Amino acid sequence: QQTVISDMLEEVVDRFSFQLRQKAITATVRVEPNVESVWLDRDGIDQVLDNLVSNAIKYTLDGGTISLTAARNDSGQLELCVQDTGIGIPKKDLARIFDRFYRVDKARSRNMGGTGLGLSIAQEIVRAHGGTVALDSEMGAGTSVTVLLPIVQEGSEPA
Ligand code: ATP
Ligand code: MG
Repeated sequence: QQTVISDMLEEVVDRFSFQLRQKAITATVRVEPNVESVWLDRDGIDQVLDNLVSNAIKYTLDGGTISLTAARNDSGQLELCVQDTGIGIPKKDLARIFDRFYRVDKARSRNMGGTGLGLSIAQEIVRAHGGTVALDSEMGAGTSVTVLLPIVQEGSEPA
């Protein structure tokens, strides 16, 4: 669908308003003026964003911050970024983080709930759309996930 990027990101935040308020987490949305609206599979990308924001909330302590940003990068791709000020992921786990059922440190994950599928599903969807997803994290400082998607068509429906 033709999608106004700022609407899409605000709506993700809205879907999580209860959990955000519960943990007193502040969510910010920033969209660079070089991407206003693009044509994309809204259901698929919403599912990706929901998985990423759900993780960001789950693994961020009360009072933290989550920022969602969008921009067109130098290669003309849509760059969506979900960044948190959470507990982070140990370097040794980064390589396996997108594996099915992989969860960092069973002890910390067990009382959080979840199956370890969120990131692998998100990656599958992004790849199916010709994009990539990358994760960077610093223990105790936070995590940022960057999704790159080709911009198929801007402004109007593809011919
Ligand atoms: P599910 O998404 O199926 O409910 P999950 O959140 O544990 O379960 P993934 O979303 O695949 O599974 O994430 C895998 C693991 O990566 C998590 O268990 C968690 O340890 C770690 N992780 C993911 N996102 C973050 C994040 N933003 N901050 C810290 N750790 C994260
Ligand atoms: Mg998850």
